[in-house]
Amino acid sequence: MKSNYIIAFDQGTTSTRTILFNKAGKIVAIAQKELKQLYPQSGWVEHDPIEIYEAQKSTFEEVLQKTNISEEEIGVIGITNQRETTVVWDKKTGIPIYNAIVWLDNRTKSYCKELKEKGHEDYVKNNTGLVIDSYFSATKLHWILNNVEGAKEKAEAGQLLFGTIDSWLIYKFTDGKNHVTDVTNASRTMLYNCKEHCWDTHLLDIFNIPKKMMPSVQPSCSHFGDITHNTTTIPIYGVAGDQQAALFGQGGTAPGIAKNTYGTGCFMLLHTGEEFITSKNGLLTTIACSLPNQAPQYALEGSIFVGGASIQWLRDQLQIINTAQETEAICKSIPPLEDVYVVPAFAGLGAPYWDSEAKGAMYGLTLDTGKNEIIKATIEALAFQTKDVLEAMQEDGDMELTKLQVDGGASNNSYLMQFQADMLNVPVDKPEMIEVTALGAALLAGLKAGIWKETDLPNLRKTATIYVPKMTSETRQRKYLGWKQAIKRTLTT
Ligand code: ADP
Repeated sequence: MKSNYIIAFDQGTTSTRTILFNKAGKIVAIAQKELKQLYPQSGWVEHDPIEIYEAQKSTFEEVLQKTNISEEEIGVIGITNQRETTVVWDKKTGIPIYNAIVWLDNRTKSYCKELKEKGHEDYVKNNTGLVIDSYFSATKLHWILNNVEGAKEKAEAGQLLFGTIDSWLIYKFTDGKNHVTDVTNASRTMLYNCKEHCWDTHLLDIFNIPKKMMPSVQPSCSHFGDITHNTTTIPIYGVAGDQQAALFGQGGTAPGIAKNTYGTGCFMLLHTGEEFITSKNGLLTTIACSLPNQAPQYALEGSIFVGGASIQWLRDQLQIINTAQETEAICKSIPPLEDVYVVPAFAGLGAPYWDSEAKGAMYGLTLDTGKNEIIKATIEALAFQTKDVLEAMQEDGDMELTKLQVDGGASNNSYLMQFQADMLNVPVDKPEMIEVTALGAALLAGLKAGIWKETDLPNLRKTATIYVPKMTSETRQRKYLGWKQAIKRTLTT
C-alpha cells in the first residue's frame, strides 16, 4: 500500500463531509453534503441515519473522483462525528428502528428532572463526569426503547443495537461486521464509567438498557474495522467525537493545553492528563484522545450555548448587520466601550452558571448607545463567556493556562481574538488550517498507521496568528468586573 493520503470522515450536525489530507497534513480535497434537520415537535431534533450514511458514502466517492486519486493510495480512514446523537437499529437488517435523536433534542427534559429528584446526580457526576441532561445519549436511548413499539422486547432478546454516529457509520461501512465505538464518544453517553473504563452496569440498570445492545469500546487510536472500496481494503484507525478530535488537532496531547471553538456555540476543552477531575465549577469531565500506547487521558469541558449564534441574532432578528464578517470593522471603528454589556442568555446560561431560566439582557445603555455599541458588546460577550469558563477550568484543574488555541467561524474575527487575548491575559493562537476537527481524526488514524510519528505532530499544526495581550491589567479588571455584575443581574437563582 502506498499510503500517500489520509481520509477523514467529518459527520457534523448540519453537514457530512469527507476530507482528503496529504502526508504534510494539508487538505487536498473536500466534499460536503448538507444534512436535513427534522423538527417533528417543538424541542425535538432528528436526523435520518440512512441519509447520514449515504451522504458519507457519496462524499467519499466525490473526493476520489475529484482528485483522481485511486483508493490504493489511501492508507487509512479517521472518523469524527457529532457527539451524543443516538441511533438504534435492527441487528439482522441494519435498519434503524427510529430516526437519530440529535444532541440538541430535549424531549427527555422532564425525565431528566425526575432522575435528579431521585438523587442520581452525584453517581452520574462521579462516574461519567457529566451532569444529568437531555443533551447526552442515555435518556434518548431510553426514550426510543420505551416509545417505539416492540423495541424493549427486541432489545432484551438481543435483536437491537445502539450506537452514536461513529458506531453507526462503522457498522454500515463494515457491512455489519463491527459494532464498536471509541472512548471519547462513549464518554458522552452518560452510560460509560469513565473511571473504570467500561459500560456502567448500575446506570444501564437505571435506564433499563440491555448491555448486549452496547458497542465495544476502543481507544481513539486503534483498529475499528476495514472499509472495502472496489477491491481495496482501507482500515479505520482513528475515531473521536468532534470536540475531542478538535483538541487533538490543535495539538492537545498534554495537560494544560486548551482549545476553544467559536462556532454557533462555543466549546472549550482543557487537557488535564491522566487524572479524572470532578469539577466544582459547573464543568464536565470527559475523555480526551490518547496517543497510541498512552494511558486514558481526560479533559474538562465547558459549553457555551450561544456563541456565534448571537451574531446571527444581530443579523436576523435585530437586522443591524448584513453579515457576521462586517462586525470586525464595526468593532474597530468605534472607541472602547464604557460599561455596555450584552449577556446573550438566549437559551439560558451554560457553563459555569447552568441557569436554564436566564434570559438575554443588555446593560449600561445611555442616550448615546447606538447599534455599533450593541454589536461590539455582543462580540465582546463571546470573550467574557470564554473567560468565565476558563477561570473555572483553571480552578478545577489547578493549572495556569499559557495560551489558548482557537478555531471555528468566529475565530476569523481579529477584533474578537485580540479582545480575547486581552481579557485572558494569555496569547491566543490561531492555526493556519482551521479544519482542526477533521485534522484530529486524520492524525489519530495516521499515527496508528505509522504514516506519522508523535514527533511529527508539532509540525503538522502551524500557527497563522498569535494575538498577544495588550490591555493594561487595570482596564482588564474593570471590564471583567462590569461583566460579572451584568451576569449577576441576569441570573435567576
Ligand atoms: P458551526 O460549525 O457551529 O456551524 P462555524 O464554525 O462555521 O459554526 O462558525 C459559524 C458561526 O461563526 C456563526 O454563528 C457566525 O455568526 C460566526 N461567525 C463567522 N464569521 C464571523 C466573524 N468574522 N465574526 C464574528 N462571527 C463570525
